[in-house]
Amino acid sequence: MNEAAQIYADRIHARQAMLLEPGRLELREFEPPAPGPGELLVKIECALSCGTDLKTWRRGHPVWKLPAPFGHEFAGVVAAAGPGVEKFKVGDAVMAAPTAPCGHCFYCVRGQENLCAQAMDRMVMGAYADYLLLPAHIVARNAFHKPPALPFEEAALLEPLSCVVHAQEMARPEPDECVLIIGAGAFGIMHAMALKAAGVRQVVIAGRGGKRLQWAGELGADRVIDAACDDAARAIGALNGGYGPDLVIECTGQVAGWEAAFRRVRRGGRVVFFGGCAAGTALSVDTRRMHYDNLTLLAPFHFRPRDVTAAFAMLSARRLGAGRLINARRRLDQLTEVFAMLERSAALKCAVIP
Ligand SMILES: [Zn+2]
Ligand SMILES: [Zn+2]
Repeated sequence: MNEAAQIYADRIHARQAMLLEPGRLELREFEPPAPGPGELLVKIECALSCGTDLKTWRRGHPVWKLPAPFGHEFAGVVAAAGPGVEKFKVGDAVMAAPTAPCGHCFYCVRGQENLCAQAMDRMVMGAYADYLLLPAHIVARNAFHKPPALPFEEAALLEPLSCVVHAQEMARPEPDECVLIIGAGAFGIMHAMALKAAGVRQVVIAGRGGKRLQWAGELGADRVIDAACDDAARAIGALNGGYGPDLVIECTGQVAGWEAAFRRVRRGGRVVFFGGCAAGTALSVDTRRMHYDNLTLLAPFHFRPRDVTAAFAMLSARRLGAGRLINARRRLDQLTEVFAMLERSAALKCAVIP
């Protein structure tokens, strides 16, 4: 069967998950579009659940109006290539970030492509599906050939790892440092994996939930601290010879976590506010502490193409063992169950396989 006929045959059964409203989704039959100039139609081999998806599942999203297709971490195989695509051909295994900047706006020309309006406005959603249309701007800048030895599910970690790479480039961790991560979710553990791979001496994760803390200890942290326990503040203060952590990376996206990060870092230390909080929330900062303790506060958002390239290299080298973050697998028609499982913290990241 030729390429067009194969797609036509598959089309009859192509499915796409639509989030109708918080807590309710539907698998719809859809006709995968023919790719236009510069575009690729990707047959999804694996999509991954993400904290952002869970937030959207719980309370909707300020930017994406529902109903909408969702899922943005993926890897797959090129099913059809639009006119003008030279880098990829039908049958190629691909991995990509779900966004790409324009390259010529105010922010892009200053190397701050993470702030390019196009990155968020034209983010591709709909990875929980049999097929995904990859727009030309992403194909041109943030899509890669998946190395044959890299499993599809690990390749799908490209987007979250790009965020981590961007944050750590700003934080500049040193090998002799003690780093505290607040939050024992997938992002907190991915930060720990990257820090250990970079040779950082001590990485401590403070978080909640017995199972999550167990995973944090098994997958990356040198030590875990139960943030719910009365002794947590004292235990953190005792780190680093009693000076406290040199660097704190906040990964909960809760104001309480941001406040704790600000309080726990040592004098002269750096705080990375990595987890975005809900709109309308505010952080009250002790100005005396900030100034006289000479704190550096950093708030990295999203990623730039160079972060995606670096994340691609890290995944390709398989030095992080990042695939261990994926500790559940379900079929696309079990997507509702996936979110129920994430709600119970019964998985860190779940692979959704069409
Ligand atoms: Zn994500
Ligand atoms: Zn731009």
